[in-house]
Amino acid sequence: MEKEIRDVVIIGTGPAGYTAAIYSGRANLKPLIIEGHQPGGQLMITTDIENFPGFPEGIPGPELMSRMRKQAERFNVDFIFGSVAEADVSRSPFGLTLDDGRDILARTLIIATGANAKWLGIESEGLYRGRGVSACATCDGFFFRNCRVFVVGGGDTAMEEALYLTKFASEVVLVHRREEFRASKIMSLRAKKNPKIKTMLNEVVDEILGDGTKVTGIRLKNVKSGELIEHACDGVFMAIGHEPNATLFKGQLDMDDYGYILTKAHSTETSVTGVFACGDVQDFIYRQAVTAVGTGCMSAVEAERYLESIR
Ligand code: NDP
Repeated sequence: MEKEIRDVVIIGTGPAGYTAAIYSGRANLKPLIIEGHQPGGQLMITTDIENFPGFPEGIPGPELMSRMRKQAERFNVDFIFGSVAEADVSRSPFGLTLDDGRDILARTLIIATGANAKWLGIESEGLYRGRGVSACATCDGFFFRNCRVFVVGGGDTAMEEALYLTKFASEVVLVHRREEFRASKIMSLRAKKNPKIKTMLNEVVDEILGDGTKVTGIRLKNVKSGELIEHACDGVFMAIGHEPNATLFKGQLDMDDYGYILTKAHSTETSVTGVFACGDVQDFIYRQAVTAVGTGCMSAVEAERYLESIR
């Protein structure tokens, strides 16, 4: 039996994926969206979102995602629960195989699989996530007004997060496991010059301390002496990198050294014509729901134009 070929297949149901679905649904392209096993993306583990325009009182992350899904449902979008196990974009139509063995063919593919913050993996970090432990200063910094916070990491993200947090916190302590920062000179210098930022080098996090409901401190271990010291604080921000969810396309699409999918300037077009990438899987700079929504819209518009060009 001949397999059905879909005009638009979207992988991922964060803000980028749902926006691409809303736009291509409204354009009558009957998109198919593959939801993954935990639909909604990173915002499902976020508490209040206060910087998404249109919600003056803020909105819980899961509620925002449920509203986006409902909006997509209005426009003839097909949803498939499950994950993509294999992808082949070497020939058109593009081929996808789901983890339950189903095959899907697509004339255009929109990759909106997002990225995940890396975590240390210690138990106390999970226990206090959303209660003092965060991996996004832009999202949660506001809740740490006049507080003492720690930022873990030594790359550009750590510098940027630390600098951003100085707008709210009374003191920001940068904790890095080595002597030298990995961050660019300009960013390290900016952090060094800021009077609110202190640095603790050659230290790793041994434990995040709390009273059962919120973070109250952090225990650091000196990598040279092995000495353990407890420090009082109200928040701990992890800035040890992100992992874009793009391994399916490794070797098939151009990526940067960190595994983010490369897109052309002012576009979401990837190195393969007809394949578009939007949201955090191609954006290591902004990583915001609003920017993901913007690039999701771009992908849908570009996919529609591409389909018109091949008809
Ligand atoms: P990086 O991989 O550059 O840095 C991660 C940092 O976290 C490193 O200092 C690393 O230490 C540390 N680290 C990693 N794992 C652990 C661990 N388990 N325990 C303790 N520390 C750990 O990631 P970034 O997110 O900072 O940056 C990613 C890319 O994005 C870079 O290319 C960066 O330049 C770019 N970027 C650009 C920005 C801009 O232009 N404004 C802003 C933010 C990021 P170690 O150094 O020892 O490996």
